This record gives sequence, C-alpha cells and structure tokens, in this order.
Amino acid sequence: MLNIYNIVSKKFHPLDCFPNLKQTKTIIDNYNFKKRFFPFPILMPINRNEFNSLKSYKIIEIFYNKIKICDLRVIEIFEYDLSNDLYKLFFTNDYNHPGFLKIKSKDNLYISGKFLNTNERVFINILKVDKLSNIKKILDKKNTVGFHTRNIPHLGHEWIHRYCLIKYDILFLNPIVGDTKNDDFNERKLIRSFKKYIKLYPKNRVIFSPHFSTVYFAGPRETLLHLLIRKNLGCKSMVVGRDHSGVKNYYGKYQSQDFAKKFEKKIGIKVEDVKEPYFCSVCNLIVNISLCSHSEKYKTYFSGTEVRKKLKNNVFDKKLIRKDLFT
Ligand SMILES: [Zn+2]
Repeated sequence: MLNIYNIVSKKFHPLDCFPNLKQTKTIIDNYNFKKRFFPFPILMPINRNEFNSLKSYKIIEIFYNKIKICDLRVIEIFEYDLSNDLYKLFFTNDYNHPGFLKIKSKDNLYISGKFLNTNERVFINILKVDKLSNIKKILDKKNTVGFHTRNIPHLGHEWIHRYCLIKYDILFLNPIVGDTKNDDFNERKLIRSFKKYIKLYPKNRVIFSPHFSTVYFAGPRETLLHLLIRKNLGCKSMVVGRDHSGVKNYYGKYQSQDFAKKFEKKIGIKVEDVKEPYFCSVCNLIVNISLCSHSEKYKTYFSGTEVRKKLKNNVFDKKLIRKDLFT
C-alpha cells in the first residue's frame, strides 16, 4: 500500500508502476528507469498461491482495510531470483539482511503493473497526510534542507537542526513512518513528538510532515532513494548523517554519506554531510569533531537504538532527549 501511495503521489518519480523484469534489471544494474535516474527496485513480491489465483486476471482490484485504493493493470508476472543481486543492492553477502528478506519473493515471483483509477485523496484520508503538491509549493520557493529519521527528535538531532537553520531558509522534517523495525516506536508517538518539537522554532522555518514508506535498511542505495524523494518534494539539500538507512553493523559509519556524495549531480540535490554530534563533558556542550579537540573518553554519542531502548523501558535521560518529547 505504501509503495503504491509513493508511486501514485510521484514521490518516486520517474517510477510510475511496479516495474517489469527488464525494468527491474535496469534499475538494479544501471540505476535507471525509462532512461532517468532511479536507484532502488520497488517490487511487488507474490507467492505461488497468489500467482495461481491471479494469473488469469488483467486487472486486479487493490484494497486496504476494505477500502478500494486502485486497480492494477497487470503488465507481467515474472519469475526472477533476486539472490544474484543481493550484494549490488545491500552491499552484503548475508541472505538474512532484513531488507533483502522483505524485498525477495520466496517463490521468486513478482507482479508488475500500472495503477488505474487512483486518487491521492484516498491515501490522504487513510494516512492523514497533507497533499504533497501543497508541501512542494512551500519547499520549492525557498532554500530548503530535508531531514530524514526513524526516531523521535533527540538532542543530537536538535543540534543538526539548529545547524541547518543557520544555513537554510526552511528545515523540512520528514521522518519515515509506516513500516519500520520491530523495536521502532509506534507512529502516533513519533508524530506527536514532532508536532510538539516544531513549536520550539519560529513558524514557517520548520515544516513537519511524516514520510510514509516501506523501509529496506539498504544503507547506501536506499539513501539515494531518500535523496530522490526529497528532491521530488522540492528540497535543495538533504542531511545524510551517520549510518543513514543502516541496520545493525552492515554498513560503515559514513558509508552511505560517502556513497551519496558521488550522486549529488545525477540526482540534483546536495548532500548535507554533517559529522555526528556528541556530548563532550569537557566542552560541556553538544559538539562534533569540527568543534572539539577532546579525546574519546569525554564523548557520549547519540545512538538511535539506545534512545529507542530507553523510551521503550521508560528510562528518561536528560542528556539524550527533551523531557516533554519523551512523554
Ligand atoms: Zn570537547
């Protein structure tokens, strides 16, 4: 459902369908869809039983919680073993990578097709989001930097946000919700925190809207997709910090950042490559490596996993997060 919304609402532009086999291979090998940049295959895996019941249909009705969201005009149902592309997509040889398990069909079957009778209004009502063209109109006009996260804002984020507000006209807070790791917060809590958080800032300088999307934890390659989405929404730049879109220890600290830098021109968006903030007990401030000369033993880093764990167990730590966002 979320992938359909992101295609229909043009967040994934130029992708306008679930790709067929040939298009899938071109996206994987050449980062291209219909000769335009597109970095990650958005696939619709199906199993053998689904294949048997769907194979004779040309048009499939798609429902979400009994609400019809669109028709899918089937272009092709194809068989493809994505295992050969594991490293190309996820930069790992581990078949248990959580994103790979999500994207790979157990029976190697995928359905490709175009969406008919779609209306962004249906998605807006289900997800309770703003119309994207309205957001784009505001972001387009100004020098806007996008910010992507899976967490509620902690003090490390806040440091990055204030740094961005010195450099840019608008900070667009666009946290990903809808489909994350099991230990991630529920989306209502995240949305509530962000709504409280933006009240700290002057009106019209910080804009918040959740980004509903599937998460693949694909590190470097998914970072490119995140950049393309923010470009499509009117951002001139996006923050790519430490281990963007990563999970566990699959990727190096700045692997996604370094990789994304190489694609700035191709995508048409600047990578704001901030170095990670930390609390230094000598400076007695939140700083980063460009602002502090002290050794590691004085530094406390902000870990998203750590923040999530503490919140889950209701352990408040004023060095990590603002009290009113914690509750
Ligand atoms: Zn220091």
